[in-house]
Amino acid sequence: MNDFRADLHCHSTCSDGSETPEELVAHAVKIGLKGLAITDHDNTDAYSMALPHAIKSGLKLLTGVEFSTNHLGHSVHILGYAFIPGHPSIEGLCKLHRTRRKNRNCEILRMLANKGMVLTEEEVQSKSNKTTGRPHIAQAMVERGYVSSINEAFNKWIGDGKPCFVRGETVSTEVTIEIIHKARGLAVIAHPHLIDNPSLIDQLTRLSFDGIECYYARFSHMQEKKWLDIASMKGWIATGGSDFHGSVKPETPLGASWVDEKTFQLLEDHGSSHKTL
Ligand code: AMP
Ligand code: ZN
Ligand code: FE
Ligand code: FE
Repeated sequence: MNDFRADLHCHSTCSDGSETPEELVAHAVKIGLKGLAITDHDNTDAYSMALPHAIKSGLKLLTGVEFSTNHLGHSVHILGYAFIPGHPSIEGLCKLHRTRRKNRNCEILRMLANKGMVLTEEEVQSKSNKTTGRPHIAQAMVERGYVSSINEAFNKWIGDGKPCFVRGETVSTEVTIEIIHKARGLAVIAHPHLIDNPSLIDQLTRLSFDGIECYYARFSHMQEKKWLDIASMKGWIATGGSDFHGSVKPETPLGASWVDEKTFQLLEDHGSSHKTL
């Protein structure tokens, strides 16, 4: 039996994961994964950091990234895969998002300070090697003793719709897909079960996505079916991954969800078709 498994959704210390790109490669090899895509929020730095280690250990590595987008006022996360490494269209969008995040983080810190929870920008920024987000703010809140856990920080203060939540500026879903395509990448709807409006899924199926994340974290087969049906109806690639964040979200281990060799090969072939350009 073919034991090829590839986890296509995980985060490193370049965004809100707790393992470095090198550690992620070692971790993947240790648990028997044969393929990996590191999908940090708003930056692609992990790819070049992980690549030499992946080559050395025979792990297949795809380029990956995750963007938060806005479709008609709703938050939709998009995964980009197999794009040209370092392509200016992706790098430009990453940069725009990191500026957007800086402003948004400042606003969140201002709102927390109004509630008596003072944090400095520096202490939050020091928790990430590149992209800083709410999980880092939550960690700083735990360290200062304002809350007892990261979950409490989200549930009580900074989660969507909570008193110190700030949406910040966004980029539309359609523009994000276009930018990924410009870099010759594939655009995939991430964790569709988190999209907060069922009719929105219907609208998203009209956009030019290439895939949908059907296998996610610890989903059961029942939970996967709805998304597999959409993938098959649209002719989209059914992707999957754990959304591993390490100690930031300890309930989901690396490799909790994965794709088989055929799916990985589809993405890899797409990526290698532009390597000679
Ligand atoms: P941001 O990108 O700054 O909007 O933060 C969103 C990130 O926070 C996502 O990667 C989520 O995985 C993470 N997140 C959301 N809710 C929680 C939670 N309750 N505990 C830990 N991480 C969370
Ligand atoms: Zn994350
Ligand atoms: Fe996400
Ligand atoms: Fe993610």
